[in-house]
Amino acid sequence: MGDSQKNPRGKASRTTEEGRQTMNEHKHECKYCGEQFDEEKMLKKHYYVEHPKKPNPLSNKIGRKYGRIVGNIERCFYAYEKSNVAVLSTSQIESWYNERYKNGITKQRLSHFLRTRSQFRKVKKARFKSTNLTESWWSLGDLEGPVDVDISGYWVEVPLVDN
Ligand SMILES: [Zn+2]
Repeated sequence: MGDSQKNPRGKASRTTEEGRQTMNEHKHECKYCGEQFDEEKMLKKHYYVEHPKKPNPLSNKIGRKYGRIVGNIERCFYAYEKSNVAVLSTSQIESWYNERYKNGITKQRLSHFLRTRSQFRKVKKARFKSTNLTESWWSLGDLEGPVDVDISGYWVEVPLVDN
């Protein structure tokens, strides 16, 4: 009788624990405010948006040397995303960056990070009419909808052959 009472209870508590563990595996918790997210990328974004002055624990596990700069570039995309803008030109990012960070960034250096970090995708390239001046447009991760960039009549779209 003692056994038959113990066993179901033991089982029940084990099941609860397993259940809790399973839940934790699927949840990603903010270490600053405790908010939980199903996907790590949502938590990563949460850190940038809600705790912009604190270090982002999920930022750039690879290429950590320039993690701060790359993190700032990602932040720019998140900021524009609030206005439903998902595609940004290199110039837009450059302006946004240099308005906020005193060390600033050159367009050349910015282009380098946009080209070499896999989270950034080049979605459009164009050349200014009658010049050799080109501009590229980027997204952070894959776009959900079609590329919707309104380039003015002064720009001639250049096919994205190589990167
Ligand atoms: Zn939080």
